[in-house]
Amino acid sequence: KEFKKVVLQERINTAIEIVSGSLSHNGIELKNNIDKNPIELYLYLGELGQVLINILNNAIDALKERDIENPWIEISMKKYDEKVILTIEDNAGGIDNNLLNKIFDPYFTTKHSSQGTGLGLYMSYKIIVESLHGKLNVINTNKGAKFIIEIPIVTENS
Ligand code: ADP
Ligand code: MG
Repeated sequence: KEFKKVVLQERINTAIEIVSGSLSHNGIELKNNIDKNPIELYLYLGELGQVLINILNNAIDALKERDIENPWIEISMKKYDEKVILTIEDNAGGIDNNLLNKIFDPYFTTKHSSQGTGLGLYMSYKIIVESLHGKLNVINTNKGAKFIIEIPIVTENS
């Protein structure tokens, strides 16, 4: 598997572009707080984008399903010496506390089988934790769900 030097912001922007149609179609405001200073990471191409698209689509589904007024999704980012923390937060009301420890399980879904396979977060978890050696967590805020992605910054030879 080949890891390539990629600019994190470009991955994020591509993911946003891919979901931009369903954002505007559903009147969802995207609050984009990503840093302009390019952050270079060594990643297996495509993987991080897949995770971001999954998480964004889940937020869009929750906002639509619950018919939220003034729906928004906020993407933020913070860089530390050895890691980057990306957060994707929505105002869809969050995840039932008794489901919080199930959503990363394979085939766990609350959607109709035509709309969800329950594999999105399972795959996302595998990519972030096993492939990128990072962390993926979720918390409920007072507005909705907040997914927290931690990615270690590694150099080419480490
Ligand atoms: P799928 O999208 O196919 O259902 P996922 O693994 O992507 O599978 O998500 C699993 C479940 O987690 C969803 O069915 C939903 O119940 C819950 N979920 C994920 N993201 C959110 C969110 N932002 N708000 C509320 N529920 C969510
Ligand atoms: Mg999904």
